[in-house]
Amino acid sequence: MLRDDLYGFRRFTRREPHKQPVAQRIRHWHEYLRPLPEIQLEQQADRCMDCATPGCHRYCPVHNLIPEWNGLVFNADWRRAYSQLESTNNFPEFTGRLCPAPCEDACTLALGDRPVTIKAIELAIAEHAWHRGWVMPRRAPQRRHQAVVVIGSGPAGLACAQQLVRVGYRVTVLEKSDRVGGLLRYGIPDFRLEKSVLDRRLNQLRAEGVVFVTDVHAGADTQADRWLAAADAVVLACGVEQPRDIEVAGRGLSGIGFAVPYLTAQNRRNAGDRVPGGQVESAQGRDVVVIGGGDTGHDCVGTAIRQGATSVTQLQYHEQPPWHADILHYWPEPAPVLRRADTDEEGARRLWGWDTAAFQGHNGRVRQVVLRRLRWWRDAQGNWQKQAFDEPPRLLPAQLVLLAMGYAHPVHAGLVDGLGLALTGRGTVRAGDQDFRTSAKGVFACGDMRRGQSLVVWAIREGRQCARAVDRYLSGYSELPYV
Ligand SMILES: Cc1cc2nc3c(=O)[nH]c(=O)nc-3n(C[C@H](O)[C@H](O)[C@H](O)COP(=O)(O)OP(=O)(O)OC[C@H]3O[C@@H](n4cnc5c(N)ncnc54)[C@H](O)[C@@H]3O)c2cc1C
Ligand code: SF4
Repeated sequence: MLRDDLYGFRRFTRREPHKQPVAQRIRHWHEYLRPLPEIQLEQQADRCMDCATPGCHRYCPVHNLIPEWNGLVFNADWRRAYSQLESTNNFPEFTGRLCPAPCEDACTLALGDRPVTIKAIELAIAEHAWHRGWVMPRRAPQRRHQAVVVIGSGPAGLACAQQLVRVGYRVTVLEKSDRVGGLLRYGIPDFRLEKSVLDRRLNQLRAEGVVFVTDVHAGADTQADRWLAAADAVVLACGVEQPRDIEVAGRGLSGIGFAVPYLTAQNRRNAGDRVPGGQVESAQGRDVVVIGGGDTGHDCVGTAIRQGATSVTQLQYHEQPPWHADILHYWPEPAPVLRRADTDEEGARRLWGWDTAAFQGHNGRVRQVVLRRLRWWRDAQGNWQKQAFDEPPRLLPAQLVLLAMGYAHPVHAGLVDGLGLALTGRGTVRAGDQDFRTSAKGVFACGDMRRGQSLVVWAIREGRQCARAVDRYLSGYSELPYV
């Protein structure tokens, strides 16, 4: 890092991107984070101490070269910063918006101060590159004859396809939806990732030679068979689409539904599609209860607020984590403290330590959720145990209930069963950590489908690593990076 001194953290305090005020941002579907001005970003990069053993780099799943690009940003050399960034991360504009940033938890500065704003700097480098025209298609110098079919167009499938097309394979991505992008397209709301950001990246992949075929459901319709028959290798990147359900009295009432179809419907409306009201309901004028925390739960809350819900309550099964913890005890792992979500500011209420006992309704439609308060403690082995308090249940009015309790495993019917793939104990597709091979010859798996429900940055890492494994399988060696 070309810097005279490494004490920028004494001169500058941490700054984060500005958020549009709540009253304004809940009136539209666009992104609401406003990047820091260039001069402030350079100052923020100067806070990096260029540690000898950078925890940020190690804890970033794609091992971004964080101290290197911080030094380049400090010197206003944005172009070289981008070439460093794209060498490890195919889609930094996605991670710069969506990543929970484990790198910042592992930043040494976090021990006595607040960490470097790594995620904001990553996003700024990526956006600089897009706006200045540095993100160009990288076409392979030579084409190979082998064909690879990638099934699923989420971040894992896209990263895998891009790596393979850049070394010359003929790559076709099959997608069962009508649009490409997986959960980036139909899941994550536009106020966190505008779809124009995804589309410009897809145009780059197309220009590099990736062919996308939508409305083809591999394993369910025969259309896919002709691509699969002609493929030298197949990569499964189908995500995890089997949601966790809740089996309590009243579950069959109308007005209770899973999170992703609800979020997808709003993504579609924003894209100009007509979504019949009877299919997926809107939160407008309703008391909404979201069951489950995590990104999916927060996205339901933000969407319901923007749709004009009367009230939104988010239920968490566990007790509220503490506001503070001894960071020395956990570092470089994230400390188990309460992390405020942006949707907490937007008017939603979070209830911690409540179990859903039943749903009650009228005329077949949900009217209220019956809750039992839970007490949690650790047993002698250190495992968490829970018990409901012996007290009358609490009733919460609800005309719309969204289930956001995560995903159990990929859908098995169709593709997975049809190929007779071996599964893990959790129901994910069994494939090696190094070779990404499934139990079927020439078939590989990556992303959430292999790893289980995870993060965009892990999907990118898996896609990159899987591409290398496919390249080694087809050519006997690979010059693609290990991560
Ligand atoms: C609402 C929500 C919000 C999230 N927010 C964040 C966040 O803020 N940050 C973060 O890091 N992570 C977030 N995640 C997690 C993240 O989106 C996933 O970990 C990531 O998208 C997984 O990528 P993937 O490519 O493995 O699968 P997916 O993105 O799920 O893509 C799989 C694709 O495969 C297609 N497909 C499935 N089966 C077939 C078939 N048989 N034939 C053809 N196509 C098929 C699907 O239609 C889909 O397009 C969120 C998840 C959800 C649900
Ligand atoms: S991808 Fe995530 S972990 Fe890696 S540098 Fe970016 S924000 Fe940090």
